[in-house]
Amino acid sequence: MKNGINEVYSYLKQFKELYGYDILVDFDQSSSPNCSENAFYKKKKLINSFENEINHCQKCNIAHNRNNFVFGTGDADADLFLVGEAPGRQEDLHGFPFIGQAGKLLDKILSAIGKSRKKGVYIANILKCRPPKNRDPLQSEIDECIPYLRKQINIIKPKLILALGKVAAKVLINSDMTLNEMRNITYIYENIPLRITYHPAALLRNPNLKKLTWEDFKYIKKYLDQI
Ligand code: URA
Repeated sequence: MKNGINEVYSYLKQFKELYGYDILVDFDQSSSPNCSENAFYKKKKLINSFENEINHCQKCNIAHNRNNFVFGTGDADADLFLVGEAPGRQEDLHGFPFIGQAGKLLDKILSAIGKSRKKGVYIANILKCRPPKNRDPLQSEIDECIPYLRKQINIIKPKLILALGKVAAKVLINSDMTLNEMRNITYIYENIPLRITYHPAALLRNPNLKKLTWEDFKYIKKYLDQI
């Protein structure tokens, strides 16, 4: 033990002679090369503890019939935050957003712009529980659930939010325009730029929308690459 201490002492002495005191310990975390890693772990901790805090929510009627609370998933340090409508059957069964057919298509589109749920993207829905028979969310359900999404966005602090489909878009920008009219405009939600594109399920129903959606994602890639 004593030998070990002596070795450390002579190493530090040698180090001091070579470099002086300054270089030995850098207490300033903000200048540390691990700073962004620290920010990542901080967000990850915050988002995980927020999930634990709310995942027993019983604030509205659809909570009683759920199999799983679908909190959201992805990279805690994402620069792109996707917002869908509500969990469907698969999502309710497994507890993760966008894991059915529409989700698979969404993953392909994300990969085409070099992103994924693991790297750069976080995904959540307006509602965290599946509405019966996938009906549209009721205003009362939206009112109870939307503070959860707002807090998620405030923890992740993405550079851009993307609303997928008309229901999510209308909730976030409070507009009655058609989806096509809502596209190609940058809105602000929670002080963060927000864009709107088609829901991937709409692309499965109408493949003609794929081209327009691809234009939207190309814009998103360019925007995120240059910011
Ligand atoms: N559709 C959505 O809007 N969200 C999901 O999680 C799945 C399908």
